[in-house]
Amino acid sequence: MGDFMKWVSAVLLYLSAVLVFGCLIYSFRKPRQLSIEPPLRMLLGSAGVALFLNATAMLTTSLQMSYFLFGAYHIAMDFVINGMMAFVRRYTGLRDYNQKVQTGFGIAAILDAVLMVINCFQPIVFECERIPDQFGSLFCHISSKSYLYGFHVILIYVMIVILLFDLIRKMLQSPKIYKLKYAVILVLDCIVVICHTIYLQFNTVIDYSLLWYAAVAFSVFYFSTTYIPRGLMDKLLYFTISNMQDGIICLDIENKCVHANRTAKIYCDFEMDQQIQTWFMEEIPSGAEDYYWDAKRRINGSMRYYRIQYQKIFDVQSKYLGCFFIIQDCTKETERFESEKYRATHDALTGIYNKEYFYETTREKITQNPLQEYCIVCTDVKNFKLVNDMFGVQTGDKLLLRIAGILRSLAGESWVYGRLTADRFALCVPQEEFDEEQILKKIVRMAKLTEDTVFKVHIHIGVYLVEDKTLGISMMCDRANLAIKTIKDSYQNIVAYYKENLRESTINEQKVISEFEDAIRDGQFQAYVQPQVAANGKIRGGEMLVRWVHPQKGMIPPGEFIGIFEQTGFISRLDAYMWETACMRLQRWKNAGLTENYLSINISQKDFYLLDVYKILTGLVKYYDLNPRNLHLEITETAVMSNPQAQLPLIAKLRNYGFLVEIDDFGSGYSSLNTLKDLQADILKIDMGFLSKTAHQGRSKLILQMIIALAKALRMEVITEGVETQDQVDFLKAYGCDIFQGYYFAKPLPVMEFEMQYLNRTFKI
Ligand code: C2E
Ligand code: CA
Ligand code: CA
Repeated sequence: MGDFMKWVSAVLLYLSAVLVFGCLIYSFRKPRQLSIEPPLRMLLGSAGVALFLNATAMLTTSLQMSYFLFGAYHIAMDFVINGMMAFVRRYTGLRDYNQKVQTGFGIAAILDAVLMVINCFQPIVFECERIPDQFGSLFCHISSKSYLYGFHVILIYVMIVILLFDLIRKMLQSPKIYKLKYAVILVLDCIVVICHTIYLQFNTVIDYSLLWYAAVAFSVFYFSTTYIPRGLMDKLLYFTISNMQDGIICLDIENKCVHANRTAKIYCDFEMDQQIQTWFMEEIPSGAEDYYWDAKRRINGSMRYYRIQYQKIFDVQSKYLGCFFIIQDCTKETERFESEKYRATHDALTGIYNKEYFYETTREKITQNPLQEYCIVCTDVKNFKLVNDMFGVQTGDKLLLRIAGILRSLAGESWVYGRLTADRFALCVPQEEFDEEQILKKIVRMAKLTEDTVFKVHIHIGVYLVEDKTLGISMMCDRANLAIKTIKDSYQNIVAYYKENLRESTINEQKVISEFEDAIRDGQFQAYVQPQVAANGKIRGGEMLVRWVHPQKGMIPPGEFIGIFEQTGFISRLDAYMWETACMRLQRWKNAGLTENYLSINISQKDFYLLDVYKILTGLVKYYDLNPRNLHLEITETAVMSNPQAQLPLIAKLRNYGFLVEIDDFGSGYSSLNTLKDLQADILKIDMGFLSKTAHQGRSKLILQMIIALAKALRMEVITEGVETQDQVDFLKAYGCDIFQGYYFAKPLPVMEFEMQYLNRTFKI
C-alpha cells in the first residue's frame, strides 16, 4: 500500500510542479510590474524545482542519483524558504528586519547547500537506501539523518517561524476584509509545517508536506496578483452609490426596494413605493427592458429637471434578476439648453421672437389649424434711420422696445409676433381677431417719440390676408411689406392691404429697371418744363421735370419710375442728364439775350451719395459758360435733414458759388420749422398739399401766412407749387408769395414748347 502511495505522491508532485511552473510562466507572460513579482517568481521557481526533484528522487532506482537528487532538493528548499521570506516581507509590507539577520540567513543557507553537495559523495547529512516495491522495482528514500541534518531543519524552521509570525502580525493589524488574504497563506503554511513535523518525527517514507507546497504556491500567486477583496468592492460600490449625484433605486425580482440612495429618497419625497408604482403605471411601457423619460419637480422651492432611466438586470442565462432606476439631475444642462434656445429664438433687444423663430412658429400655427384663416401683418417705421441719426441709437432702441411692448399688449393667445429686421415687426393673427382700429389706436398714441421734440413717429402697417397657405412665411411677409411700399411716402395712410396686382407692380418695377439703359441711350427721357409765374404775371423761369417717352407705352409720368430709380441708384445718371439738358437750354437762352430767366433742376436725396454734386454742377456751369444764378437747385427738406452734417456745408458751398437753392416740398416733411432754423437757402418752395389736405382751412391758411412771413423775415423768396385756382392765387398773393407754379397757369410741357409759348409771356393776375 505504501508503495502505491509513493507512486500516487510522485504523480501528484509532478502535477503540482506543473501547476507551479504554470503560475510562473503566467507571471512572466502577463507581468503586472508589481514589486512583489521578483520574490514571487523566485518562490514559484524554486518550489517547482523542489517538487520536481523530490518526485524524481523518489522514483529513481540509482542510489547515487538519489543522493544527488535529494541533496539538490534540500538546496532548492533553502531557496523556497528564502523566497517565501522575501515574499512575505513584501506581501505584508513589514520590513523591520535587520539587514544583518537577512544576510545571516543567506550565509546559513549557503552553508547548508555546501553540506548537501558534500553529502552526495560522503553521507554526512543523511543516508539513502533502496527498497523494492511490491511490483519488484526499486525506489529510494532517505533512510537516516545525522545531527547535521538538524542544522538544515533548524534553519528552515527558524525562517518559517519568522514568516508565520509576520503573517500573524499583519493579519491582526489588517481591516477585516483584508484578513483573508493573510489567513489563507498562514493556514496553508501551518499545514505544511505540521505535515513536515510529522514526517520528521515519525521518519515516514513519504514527506506529505510537499503536496501542500503547490497549494501554498498557488494561493500565494493568486492572493498577490489577482485577488481583490470582495468586501472592498462592496464597500466601494456602496460608497459610490451613496455619494452619487444621481439618484439610484434598485428593486428585486418582486419589485421590492433593495437599495435607494439619498438623492433618490429626496426625489421621491421619501414615498419610494408610491413613486415606483406611479412610474410603472404611467411611464414605463409594459415589457420594456430599458426606458427613459424626463421629469421635473420642485425641490426646496426651485424647479429641477430630471432624466429618469429604467433598466432591467439579467444574469448570464438571461434570467430576470431585478431592475434599477437612475434619476439624473439635468437642471444645469436643461437651463443652459433653454437659455441657448431662448437666445437662438428671441431677439436680443426686445425679447420677442426673432425672424427665424417667427417664421417657424407661424408655419406650425398655420399648418396645425388648417380651417383657421390668418393674416400676416408687418409694420415699418417711416424714416427709422432718421430717428437713430437725429436722436441717437438709444432713442431708436427705446422706440423699438415700445413697439414690441404694444405687440405684446395686443397679442391674443393664438397670435404669433416677432421682429424681422431693425424696425420691421411682423404678426400672424387669426383674421377675425385682427382689429385695424384697435391697432391704429395704440400706434397713434405712440406717435410722439419724446416729450420735448416735435418729431412724429409714423408707423406703416401692411396686411396680407393669407390666401395661399402653402406660401413660405417669408413670402407672406414680403407681400405685407409690399403693401407698405404703396403708402411708404404717405403721412396720412397708415394701413395698406396686399392685393394681387401689387405683385404685378413689382414685376413691373423689374421691367422698368431693365429698360433704363436702352431708354437713356435712345433719348427716351425728355425734359419738360413747368412755368413759374411771378406775382406781377411775368414768367420768371420754370422747373425741369422729366418725362419718359416710351416707344411702346407712350408717356410715363415720373411718379412711376423716379422712386424705382432712386432705389436702384439709376436716378443719379438720369439727373446728371437732366442737369446737362437744363444747362444746354440756358446757354441757348443766354445766347438769345435771355439772361434773367432761370431753370430749376431737381436734386434727389440719392444724388448726394452717388455723385459729387458740387463738382458736376460747377463743371457744367463753367463748360456752358453760365451764370450760376440762372440754375436753381431744388432740394427737398427730407434730403437735407436726413444727413444735415454733410448736406448743410455742401449747400453753403453751392450758394457761395452762386447757385440759388430752393427748399422743395416744404411743409410735407417731418420737421419743417427745424429745417428752416438750420438750413440757409434762397427760396422756399411750399407744397400745396400742405394746404389742401387739412380740414381746418382757416388754421392752415394762417400757418401758411406765417410761414410766408417767416421766409420773408429770413430773406427768402417764396414759391408756391400746385396752385390750381384763382382763389389760391389771390390769397397767396395777399400773403406775399413771390412766385406761383401750378396747373392754374400751365402744366409741364416740352422744353421747346415752353420756350416758344411761355418764355416771353406775361399772365394777367
Ligand atoms: P416735384 O419736384 O414736387 O414736382 C412738382 C410736381 O407737381 C410735378 O409732377 C408737377 O407736374 C406737379 N404739379 C405742378 N403743378 C401742379 C398742380 O397744380 N396740381 C397738381 N396736382 N400737380 C401739379 P411730376 O412732373 O409728375 O413730378 C413728380 C415728382 O417727380 C417731382 O415732384 C419730383 O420730385 C420728381 N421728378 C420729376 N422730374 C425729376 C427729375 O428730373 N429728377 C428728379 N430727381 N426728380 C424728378
Ligand atoms: Ca421739384
Ligand atoms: Ca415740389
